[in-house]
Amino acid sequence: MKKIMASVFCSCIALGLLFRPQLVEMKDSLEVKLFHPLSGVRIVLDPGHGGKDDGARTEDAKEQTINLAIAKQTKKMLEEAGASVILTRDGAYDLASDGVKNRKRDDMKKRVNMINDKQIDLFVSIHLNAYPSSAVRGTQVFFRKGDQAGEKLANMIQNHFKEITKAKMLPKAGDYYILNETDKLGVLVECGFLSNPIDRKNLLQKEYQKKVANVLYVSIREYLQILDQ
Ligand SMILES: [Zn+2]
Repeated sequence: MKKIMASVFCSCIALGLLFRPQLVEMKDSLEVKLFHPLSGVRIVLDPGHGGKDDGARTEDAKEQTINLAIAKQTKKMLEEAGASVILTRDGAYDLASDGVKNRKRDDMKKRVNMINDKQIDLFVSIHLNAYPSSAVRGTQVFFRKGDQAGEKLANMIQNHFKEITKAKMLPKAGDYYILNETDKLGVLVECGFLSNPIDRKNLLQKEYQKKVANVLYVSIREYLQILDQ
C-alpha cells in the first residue's frame, strides 16, 4: 500500500511538473485577455491632411490639427487595451517627398502604401467635413463600395456616433482614394462639420475629441467582438 501511495504521490508530482507550465501559460493568457483584450490586433489610424494642407478650415479651427488630436486619443485607448497602432503621421506634416510636383498625390500614395504594405486588421482614416450651408452637421462614415466588412464596421461607428451627436446620418459607400486604393478593411470617418457652429465648438474641445476617440475605440472592439463581459 505504502508503495502504491508513494508511486501515486510521485506520479502526482510528475503530473504537476508536467502540467504546471501549461497552467502558468493559461493564467498568463487569461491575464493578457483580461487586461489587454486587443493584444495581437494591429490597426492603422490615418489623421487626414497635414503640413500646408489644413483640410477644412475656419478662423479658429484647422481640420489637420483636430484629426491628429482625435487619432492620438484613439491610439492611446487602443494601445492601453493591448493593440498595436500605427499613425500615418504623428505631427503637423504631410508624407510627400521633397521636390515632388504634386504633394497631395504623393502624400496620399504614401498613406496607401503604409496600409497596403503592413499586416493589419483594419484602418480608420480620420477627417472633418465642411459644407456651404452652416446648418448641416453630424458625423458620416464611409466604406469602400461593395465591401461588406467595411459596411458593417461603418454601421457600428455610425450607431455609436448617434449617442454623442444625436444626428441622423447614415453610412455610405464613398469614392475616396484611401478606400479605393487600399486592400485592407477600412473606413473613412468624417467626424463632424467645421462649417457648423455646434460641431465646430465641440470638435475644438479636448473632452469632445476624447468622446469621438471613444466611439472609434468601442466600435473597433465591437467589430472584433472583443467586448467587456
Ligand atoms: Zn479631410
